[in-house]
Amino acid sequence: MDNKKYILDEAKLPKAWYNIAADLPVPLPPVLHPATLKPVGPDDLAPLFPMALIGQEMSTERYIAIPETVRDVYRLWRPTPLVRAHRLERALDTPAHIYYKNESVSPPGSHKPNTAVAQAYYNKKEGIRRLITETGAGQWGSALSMACNFFGIECKVYMVKISYQQKPYRRSLMQIWGASVTPSPSEETEAGRSILAQDPDSLGSLGIAISEAVEVAAANEDTKYSLGSVLNHVLLHQTIVGQEAVAQMEMAGEEPDIVIGCVGGGSNYAGLAFPFLRRVFTEGAKTRFISVEASACPSVTKGVYAYDFGDTAMTTPLMKMHTLGHSFVPAGIHAGGLRYHGMAPLISALAEAGYIEPTAYLQNAAFAAAVQFARSEGIVPAPETAHAVRAVIDEALRCKESGEQKVILFNFSGHGHFDLAAYDAYLGGELLDYEYPASKVAKALEELPQVE
Ligand SMILES: *Cc1c(COP(=O)(O)O)cnc(C)c1O
Repeated sequence: MDNKKYILDEAKLPKAWYNIAADLPVPLPPVLHPATLKPVGPDDLAPLFPMALIGQEMSTERYIAIPETVRDVYRLWRPTPLVRAHRLERALDTPAHIYYKNESVSPPGSHKPNTAVAQAYYNKKEGIRRLITETGAGQWGSALSMACNFFGIECKVYMVKISYQQKPYRRSLMQIWGASVTPSPSEETEAGRSILAQDPDSLGSLGIAISEAVEVAAANEDTKYSLGSVLNHVLLHQTIVGQEAVAQMEMAGEEPDIVIGCVGGGSNYAGLAFPFLRRVFTEGAKTRFISVEASACPSVTKGVYAYDFGDTAMTTPLMKMHTLGHSFVPAGIHAGGLRYHGMAPLISALAEAGYIEPTAYLQNAAFAAAVQFARSEGIVPAPETAHAVRAVIDEALRCKESGEQKVILFNFSGHGHFDLAAYDAYLGGELLDYEYPASKVAKALEELPQVE
């Protein structure tokens, strides 16, 4: 087969997102109010999110129409290419067929604008003037900055301090798109000040930055909060990825046997996997699903499935998810997007029920795979994406041993052009591997809220 890309024509840009809540084989435990421990209703979430997104968060309708205005923005880079990685297959000498859905072609370089654009649109429509968010590595902050800029909304980003220092160019990108960026923990909020009082040198975490952003959004009428992963409506928006991929795999005349993706909060993987999971639930497809996390932040492979807060200051509603505990402060690994203590409730429930197999890799192994990918396919993967690439290569090598000609599909969630310092460290032999110790997991779990 020649080395062609399967590009859908624009007319085929999906018209709806797929809502997996309509087809779930296991019930999704309700989100609980942190004070009453009763299921939250729309009014509880209204200070933080616009009603349209709250509706989507709770919806069980199978397909939700994508507004034309949102599709117009998507057309700047969508549909994204589905690429057969022939050169990687040859380099590995594997009979497996490897395909990747290339989400790195968006302007900020990742899958994240798929939801950022939708969120900015619905907030604008409900008269919101400003969106506040947090960012780890800067990918989410840059995606939301671009989206807010398109819809004429102000954007303010609390950026985890260690990333603010390590990744100055992501900060530049956010500023180009007109956002203001504050390193977190900051002196601007109650949550930030209390962390700094305990530890003036705190390098921050996503959990802390979320506390800061939520605090500001809740206190201001014209301001809402925006989250780049974890929540149902975020995963919903990302299903445009999988909807396109289902059609593109058909054009390629193949069915994936294995669908792989890295998981931080779970959104890029859900986006690719859910439309294929639909076929498992409703059409008896026999696909395997593998989620890949960082060994330094092993929420699904080592955490527990329990109710926990989404943030460090214990202000968010309680979600049942795989968690390492809300006070988790991760090691400074380079895959910033994989450093969140929790996992999307939808991914967690499906992993718990055995539909998704979780795995974890150390960062040196991930970077080795990423370099092999760059040397065969050309594109430099983001450090997060590198974890998916590692799992793909290992599955392809297993096929080489067994002689099986499996079809492997994965989400190429982003490129690594802003992560070259991490590649320098890897190439210089300076990257440290860190496995999160089981004793620390046990300790963090002692402080889980008592719900059940
Ligand atoms: C943010 C990010 C991730 C992890 O987040 P998910 O919500 O799990 O997708 C993975 N890859 C890239 C490139 C990212 O920017």
